Amino acid sequence: MIETKGIAVLIDCYECQAKVSDSAASCPKCGAIPADPIRALPVEVSDLDMRFGSMFWGLIKLSFAAVPAVIVIYTAWTIIGGVLNPMLHM
Ligand SMILES: [Zn+2]
Repeated sequence: MIETKGIAVLIDCYECQAKVSDSAASCPKCGAIPADPIRALPVEVSDLDMRFGSMFWGLIKLSFAAVPAVIVIYTAWTIIGGVLNPMLHM
């Protein structure tokens, strides 16, 4: 078998593990349509990376947003407690 295209990449058929050109529409041996991992992988990785990144930054933003809320609640609780406690113990 002579490879005519210099840029063609041979990939393993996911069905029969035969060498299939990535430009081939289907496996010449079993007819399976190649999954094309060479072109599919960067998309999958970047998609996964993006989802993980947004989830990570979402958590960071959430924790930063939670800090002032906690301070406000703690301060309010301390003030309320400081006012109410002497009144309750009078
Ligand atoms: Zn095959």
